[in-house]
Amino acid sequence: MSKVRSVCVYCGSSGQVSEEYKKAAHDLGTLIGSAGLRLVYGGGRVGLMGITADAALAAGGEVVGIIPDHIQVREVDHGGLTELHVVDSMHTRKRMMVEKSDAFIVMPGGLGTLDEAFEIITWRQLGLHDKPVVIANIDGYWDPLRDLLTHIRATGFGRGEIESYFTFVDSVHAILPALRRAPDALQKIAVERL
Ligand code: AMP
Repeated sequence: MSKVRSVCVYCGSSGQVSEEYKKAAHDLGTLIGSAGLRLVYGGGRVGLMGITADAALAAGGEVVGIIPDHIQVREVDHGGLTELHVVDSMHTRKRMMVEKSDAFIVMPGGLGTLDEAFEIITWRQLGLHDKPVVIANIDGYWDPLRDLLTHIRATGFGRGEIESYFTFVDSVHAILPALRRAPDALQKIAVERL
């Protein structure tokens, strides 16, 4: 893993969530912007996505949004970003988000966030990238996901190294330190297969 300069944040597009999740999104954006990191995200103004982007911009950070043209209306593309890429499909969006990022943060979110999180985790399992993935378990939101992942491993449907593909943290302040400490998955896999 080379140095982390750009971080991708996957998070919910809903604004109908409790204040602690909104605060966490705001704090994460502020931390990213003040750390001089570039935020890469889905490009919308809505929900935790918009809150994170606004906070990163307010903290002086660069923010890159990538939004498919067919959901521009639903997710209301953000007018004030450093870069906004309007692309032709969800597939192009997700590929560009991966290419432009050195690390991934999964914040609380819904089905779209889960889709994005599992894509990036399974790509790591396939050895398609070695970038760190941190799952921010704000207020225990992702506890059921953590249990499911343990179950997948315990029943033999996930390989031994499954836990090296991501790191769970319990607070926003633990995210950036965890990204810097995250293990290099490809190296781990190579060693385990010797
Ligand atoms: P959600 O977590 O459902 O609020 O969605 C968060 C983001 O994931 C939104 O920007 C969605 O457009 C995006 N997303 C990515 N892939 C998908 C997918 N397969 N289905 C739904 N939303 C998706």
